[in-house]
Amino acid sequence: MTEHKGIHPGWNFDNSYARLPEALYTRLKPASVRLPKLVIFNDPLAASLGLDSPALRSDEGVAVLAGNAVPEGAEPLAQAYAGHQFGNFTMLGDGRAVLIGEQITPLGKRADIQLKGSGRTPYSRGGDGRAALGPMLREYIISEAMHGLGIATTRSLAVVSTGEPIIRETEQPGAILTRVAASHLRVGTFQYAAARGIKEDLRALADYTLHRHYPETDGEENRYLFLLQEVVKRQAELIAKWQLVGFIHGVMNTDNMALSGETIDYGPCAFMDTYDLGTVFSSIDQQGRYAFGNQPSIAAWNLARFAEALLPLLDDNEPQAIGLAEEAISDFGVIFNRNWLAGMRAKLGICNEEPEDESLAEELLGMMHKHRADYANTFRALTLDKPEDTAMFGTEEFTRWHELWQARLGRQEESQESSQQLMRSSNPAVIPRNHRVEEALEAAVNQGDYSLMERLLGVLSNPYAYTSEQAEYSALPESCGGPYRTFCGT
Ligand code: AMP
Ligand code: MG
Repeated sequence: MTEHKGIHPGWNFDNSYARLPEALYTRLKPASVRLPKLVIFNDPLAASLGLDSPALRSDEGVAVLAGNAVPEGAEPLAQAYAGHQFGNFTMLGDGRAVLIGEQITPLGKRADIQLKGSGRTPYSRGGDGRAALGPMLREYIISEAMHGLGIATTRSLAVVSTGEPIIRETEQPGAILTRVAASHLRVGTFQYAAARGIKEDLRALADYTLHRHYPETDGEENRYLFLLQEVVKRQAELIAKWQLVGFIHGVMNTDNMALSGETIDYGPCAFMDTYDLGTVFSSIDQQGRYAFGNQPSIAAWNLARFAEALLPLLDDNEPQAIGLAEEAISDFGVIFNRNWLAGMRAKLGICNEEPEDESLAEELLGMMHKHRADYANTFRALTLDKPEDTAMFGTEEFTRWHELWQARLGRQEESQESSQQLMRSSNPAVIPRNHRVEEALEAAVNQGDYSLMERLLGVLSNPYAYTSEQAEYSALPESCGGPYRTFCGT
């Protein structure tokens, strides 16, 4: 390890957030940990960030990933934000995370480098500022799986175990995740600025967000309305993608909705197995607020909170501002539906548009619900032209539906081959199956064996490849042993 000492890891920081009004963050260093050990590292991501893997894997590099050393050019800080958590408004902030700095990549992109689990901050409230190894590895797996699926997401660069136990329901090994994000601006960041009531800070934040994520404001009459419209659009596109792959976020609080349009904060998330709009995995979501089928309406609700925070900037006349906000929010449903239907057409190999396509898709979903079909595997079977592998096979209604579908495909100009190609690139051959994720985490956390996790990550990195290994990983567990439950593990 020591042979790489002195090699420059390639940190190239420009810390724009640290130039925002000071009320929006607190400068502080991450806390030190006793015995940092790198347990997983993302070489391709490091390369795309312009970072040198061997240098980061060296003791000096790991010290940075553990929060024990601050690299040159970094300006560590914890961000302030607020949020509606399960509907209740609270002032929050990075209670266990520190933004190290913004890395400018070789392609000139800006990426937040954040340590999650890095110790207490002024926003920790009652928490210990720490994170457990299992949940950090879980975030690593699911976020990288989402990236493989082609869904906008924060990424995971590394997990370091700290050598320090942390107390949850049981004692668990502590860990720090290095999270990479387009930014950590959230709906909750605006709620925080709005709640403080200083309009100039709110304006600075809005200008910053526009500049960083939505810079094409030329010719826009009302740039803050444009910001709202663009955030609505990106969220509608994102949530449509979640619904199409069966991803359940689990804790869609407004502080967990990123303004960049990336999926953020992998807590009790999981992929749906049996198709059911009511699916909830999270143990803390007793009311099913964040159930699979509720995600689009919750996203719209969260965006309405964003619009509320922006009201003072939308128009000096409040009724006028409210009218603009309402109109922008009402677009969410339209954009979501358009994206969802386009995605469903692709999942069914349909290349053009007919008015009955939506009912064709809905009919299939209705049958899947009735027959408790596995969501991903049903589309996988249709893609592989193996209808006999679906739970509905042999029923009269499915036979009729299958004929209608085949007739529909026959009415388009595209060849059968290109239609099948479209299905292959729209229906993942594999998703992070809950039992596979648990199996990998169990081996890693309890045995220190990361081979299962490495293999799982490999299988998930290109989920549209349809390899034989992916066939193995698409299998359901032999016995389910009751409903799957996920925990925040905070
Ligand atoms: P999350 O549920 O992870 O989105 O976190 C919600 C809020 O609780 C955020 O402000 C976090 O920073 C904070 N938080 C979560 N876990 C901890 C912890 N162990 N110590 C301090 N703050 C925490
Ligand atoms: Mg959060």
